[in-house]
Amino acid sequence: MSSLVIIGGGPAGLSAAIYAARANIKTFVLYKDGGALQKTDKIENYFGFPEPVTGAYLLEQGRAQAARLGVTLVETEVTGIEYADEGFTVKTIDGSYPAKAIVLATGAPRAVPKIAGIADFEGHGVSYCAVCDAFFYRGKSVAVLGQGEYAIEEARTLLPVAASVTLLTNGQQPPEGLPANLLVDTRPVAAAAGDDKIGRIEFTEGDSLAIDGLFIAYGTAGSADFARKLGAMTEGSRIQTDAAMATGVPGLFAAGDCTGGMLQIAKAVHDGAAAAMTAVKHMRT
Ligand SMILES: Cc1cc2nc3c(=O)[nH]c(=O)nc-3n(C[C@H](O)[C@H](O)[C@H](O)COP(=O)(O)OP(=O)(O)OC[C@H]3O[C@@H](n4cnc5c(N)ncnc54)[C@H](O)[C@@H]3O)c2cc1C
Repeated sequence: MSSLVIIGGGPAGLSAAIYAARANIKTFVLYKDGGALQKTDKIENYFGFPEPVTGAYLLEQGRAQAARLGVTLVETEVTGIEYADEGFTVKTIDGSYPAKAIVLATGAPRAVPKIAGIADFEGHGVSYCAVCDAFFYRGKSVAVLGQGEYAIEEARTLLPVAASVTLLTNGQQPPEGLPANLLVDTRPVAAAAGDDKIGRIEFTEGDSLAIDGLFIAYGTAGSADFARKLGAMTEGSRIQTDAAMATGVPGLFAAGDCTGGMLQIAKAVHDGAAAAMTAVKHMRT
């Protein structure tokens, strides 16, 4: 178990990979897609390019550079991270990766679904972390809002603890291979409602579902979701790190937009390099 696993293949993740590989560390980059950089069609403030370049071009060059240095790039979606004997196990939709250290670099936080009431009940029955909060819902009825692999992973954590778990897909088709005891409701959600804490989900068609707790697992899991579950400090959806990009959890580092501050390529590249150098030091001690 001596590899570094980097979650995210944007400028932060790729920069981390380049530094780690050149320090002779077996390095994996697990990435779902091109992230924010892929959406950028004209960059003219990044060092070294006298003419504007596209994000897609920068990504292609960064990936090629990392691959040439021996980094293993894997296109997949990370759904969870668990502690293992001498480090971590990174779970993806295609299998697991052992890691002695991890760099979280999944970019800016995901959008929270714009559904009335959700923000009002945060901490009052609305949770973003099944591993952290499942215990409070022993024998109760809970729902997971989401329709992807991350939502299923959250539901799997809740199923052995809660009396019932309902996956609310908010009008989307649920994926294949759901756990047998997971209930599914595909109706579009209008609002989260209740008194001092959440008590029900109201559907746009008028009916409602009584619940004691709602777990938000929309889209894919981001760095802050992983960090929180491993006990790292977050501020809202940003991960707190020191100047060396360490989270405070031994072996866990973060870089780029997921740590907040200036959301720019130059900062992501710096963070990635710093995170890798600190991770390498950690792996050698
Ligand atoms: C429209 C637009 C224009 C911009 N213009 C500029 C500009 O001109 N100059 C500039 O400096 N910056 C610009 N930016 C900002 C810049 O793109 C970001 O600051 C930078 O890309 C952040 O890098 P990152 O590596 O932290 O995150 P990202 O580039 O967002 O990369 C995140 C990576 O994490 C992966 N990921 C996320 N979740 C998972 C998961 N669960 N499993 C596996 N992989 C996952 C994604 O697939 C992606 O590979 C722009 C951004 C946008 C959206």
